[in-house]
Amino acid sequence: MKAVRLTRVGEPLESQEIPIPAVGERDVLVRVKAAGICHSDVHYRAGSSPVGPLPQTLGHEVAGIVEEAGADVRDLQVGDRVCLHYLLTCGECHFCRSDHEQFCLEGKMLGKHTDGGYAEYIAVPARNAVRLPDEVSFEHGAIMMCSSSTSFHALRKARLSAGETVAVFGAGGLGMSAVQLAQIMGARAVYAVDINTGKLALAENLGAVPVDASQGDPVIELRRLTGGRGVDVALEVIGLKQTMEQAVGSLAVLGRAVLAGLCDRLFEIDSYHDLLGREAEVIGCSDHTLWELEVLVEYARQGKLDLSHNVTGTVPLEAAAINDVMDSLENLSGGVRTVIRP
Ligand SMILES: [Zn+2]
Ligand SMILES: [Zn+2]
Repeated sequence: MKAVRLTRVGEPLESQEIPIPAVGERDVLVRVKAAGICHSDVHYRAGSSPVGPLPQTLGHEVAGIVEEAGADVRDLQVGDRVCLHYLLTCGECHFCRSDHEQFCLEGKMLGKHTDGGYAEYIAVPARNAVRLPDEVSFEHGAIMMCSSSTSFHALRKARLSAGETVAVFGAGGLGMSAVQLAQIMGARAVYAVDINTGKLALAENLGAVPVDASQGDPVIELRRLTGGRGVDVALEVIGLKQTMEQAVGSLAVLGRAVLAGLCDRLFEIDSYHDLLGREAEVIGCSDHTLWELEVLVEYARQGKLDLSHNVTGTVPLEAAAINDVMDSLENLSGGVRTVIRP
C-alpha cells in the first residue's frame, strides 16, 4: 500500500510502498478515508518534538471504514464507519482504570510512536475505534480526534457548569470548538479573544462575544463585559506567555484558568491578587479520553458541534502536496485544517 512517511527528521516526508499492516485478534484494519494534517506533525518533521522509531507513517487524526476485523473483535464489522482514538493504551494500569488513560504507563500515540494515517490502511486495537454516524463526514470525524477533543477535555478540566461565563483565548481550530462546546455545556456567555478580525467574526457567528485584543487590554475588556467580576473559566489554547497571563488575570473569584496551548516559556502570576485573594485555580490540560470522543461524535451528529469552518482544504495522499501543507503550517500561513483524502 501507499504511505507517506517521515524517514529522517528535518527532511520532507516521502511516499513509500509498504505492506498492508497485519491484523491481530483484537485489532481492526481500517481503510483510511480522511487524515488531518496537524501542527504536531510539523513539529515531528522538524525535529522539535520527539518521534520514532523511523521511518514512521505520520497522521494521528484518522477516520475510515473497517476493512477487516480480528477473530476476537465483537462489536465492529467490516464496512463500519469509524474514527480513531490516537492514544494506544494498556487498559490495565492505574491510570487506564481511573479514566486518566492519557497517562498510561505504556501509552503510545498513533502517527508518532507507531504508524499513523497518512496511508491507505491502518491497523489499530478495536477499542480505539469510535463509531462514526452517517451524519458526520470522515473529514470532521478525523479532526475531532485532536483539536475538538482537547477543547472538550479542557472545559471538563475547568469543571464548567451551567450559567457560568467563559473566555477563550485564541479563536483558531481549538478555540472554534471551545466556543461551541462551552455553549453546549450551558455557559451563560462565551467571550472569544483574538487579534484576527476574521477569526473573531467567525467566533461571533458561532455565538461568542468577540474581544479584539489588538484594540486594548482584553483583561480590562473582560472585566467591563462581566460587570467587574471577571470570567468563571478562562481557556488558553494558543501557548503564549502573554495570553496565559491574561487568562489568569481575567478570572473572577473562584475562577479556573485551563492552559491547553503548548508553550515551554515561563509566565508570571501575581500570587496574592490573581490566585490566593480570589481562590482561583490554574489547571493544566493534556490530551483527552476515549469517552470524551464518543460524546463529541454525538454532539456532531446532533449538529450542535459544527466543524464546517475547520476543514479549509483537502489534498491527495501524495508526499509533495502534504509537505506543501506542512510548510505553510510552519510559516503560520495555512488554513485551519487541511485533510488528506487517500
Ligand atoms: Zn493533531
Ligand atoms: Zn495503561
